[in-house]
Amino acid sequence: MKVLLVAEYRQGRLAESTSELLGFADALGGDVSMALVGSPDQLPGFDGRLHFADAGIYGEYDSELHKRLLLQAVEAETPDLIVFMHSSYGWDLAPRISAALGVALLSGVAGMDGDGFTTRCCNGKMRRTVTAMTSPAVLTLLPGAFPSVQPEGVSPELHPMAASGVPVVEFIRYEPPSTGGIDLTRSDVIVCAGRGVGSREKVGLVRALADALGGEVGATRPVVDAGWLEHGRQIGSTGQSVSPGLYVACGVSGAIQHLAGMKGSGFVIALNTDRDAPIVEVADLLVVADLEEFLPLLTAKLGS
Ligand SMILES: Cc1cc2nc3c(=O)[nH]c(=O)nc-3n(C[C@H](O)[C@H](O)[C@H](O)COP(=O)(O)OP(=O)(O)OC[C@H]3O[C@@H](n4cnc5c(N)ncnc54)[C@H](O)[C@@H]3O)c2cc1C
Repeated sequence: MKVLLVAEYRQGRLAESTSELLGFADALGGDVSMALVGSPDQLPGFDGRLHFADAGIYGEYDSELHKRLLLQAVEAETPDLIVFMHSSYGWDLAPRISAALGVALLSGVAGMDGDGFTTRCCNGKMRRTVTAMTSPAVLTLLPGAFPSVQPEGVSPELHPMAASGVPVVEFIRYEPPSTGGIDLTRSDVIVCAGRGVGSREKVGLVRALADALGGEVGATRPVVDAGWLEHGRQIGSTGQSVSPGLYVACGVSGAIQHLAGMKGSGFVIALNTDRDAPIVEVADLLVVADLEEFLPLLTAKLGS
């Protein structure tokens, strides 16, 4: 199996997700190469071929020029799989590569299952196993789905890439998501409200427990989308990444996009009516209970 990983470079830095791409390749086994439009000062360490172009010339992102560069790497490597992260870079570029080659795109891969790959469906409630009917196939990997691998003491073999043509898009600026001044990354205790909380009013139960524990309130995306808590409290791949000593997940199912933001937590307590919710996979302690009944009891106990 030949795998071409597409690494990312953003705001002057090689993306940390490069280690997840290498983790995927490691889990798959086989021959690894990588393509990167980045900085010669920040090359990934791995044992393989690196098709490299300088972002100083081609920009950190230009959909058309980067596509042309990557197609060169594909031609040189003839890979079985072309693997992106499921990030804004991958969302934009992976379909362009798939369309240019006329090959399958498996989007949001969360795992491997025999010869197939697992992806989520039904708003993340179910998993399905899919197999590409073409070779090569293009994949995007969900952040946090594969372990990070950071080989040490190895350097790739450099193969320069070059492309001509005028850019068809103009890059203007990065706009980081606003956290509204809430920095959850420094909190040692986070009590997170999930959709299972049920309503804006009941978020108060979560806040009371956070206060009793001297911690902060976090939120899953549906809670933020519903306007029950501000966006700055969202934890996950499109929110903040946190690593508190104690993480209490209240009515949180444990979708992979949420886990990506809290997997660095020390001790995880999950409170859920569903004993089979995916959060169980990362929880140190599961309390199977209705949070409306359990949270006031726990908070009162802590206060006494
Ligand atoms: C591109 C993309 C990016 C995303 N980014 C993020 C992100 O950054 N962060 C994020 O969180 N999500 C993100 N999501 C959404 C993610 O896929 C999930 O939909 C979301 O995390 C689910 O939130 P939840 O666990 O609160 O809700 P649900 O999945 O609906 O889970 C609710 C849970 O509450 C439990 N429950 C229900 N009632 C009770 C009760 N009375 N007592 C106790 N438990 C109860 C249920 O059993 C269930 O497990 C993203 C999705 C996409 C596609």
